[in-house]
Amino acid sequence: MTDTTLFGKIIRREIPADIVFEDEHLIAFRDIAPQAPVHVLFVPKTSIATLNDLHEEEAQVVGRLVFAAATYAKQQGFAEDGYRIVMNCNAHGGQTVFQIHLHLLAGAHLGRFGVPV
Ligand code: 5GP
Repeated sequence: MTDTTLFGKIIRREIPADIVFEDEHLIAFRDIAPQAPVHVLFVPKTSIATLNDLHEEEAQVVGRLVFAAATYAKQQGFAEDGYRIVMNCNAHGGQTVFQIHLHLLAGAHLGRFGVPV
């Protein structure tokens, strides 16, 4: 199924992005509104709106996002200092783009999280 979201448009080069990695399974690009010195989004090329729509046979889609983010962290030299990965789901999770994606945040000591707003 075609990803009609903003991220699908980035994958198809219909809108620009600062792409840092791409393979046949996923794309990674810098977030337009970074929440840390490093803030990269990892997006699968398989169209899945939310984590609630992920089927068991698609679990490797998320595994690939995590592996790509960890590999990027090592390649960029901040893996040992550490980083955070986040996936938001629906309203309470703060999801705004309905194609699953993983946030990689790094480059500073990040505060704790999980406080209701
Ligand atoms: P969500 O809130 O769905 O977990 O994350 C969506 C992310 O997409 C946000 O962090 C937001 O800053 C980012 N974003 C929204 N529009 C654009 C855009 O046009 N380009 C890029 N690179 N990131 C975007």
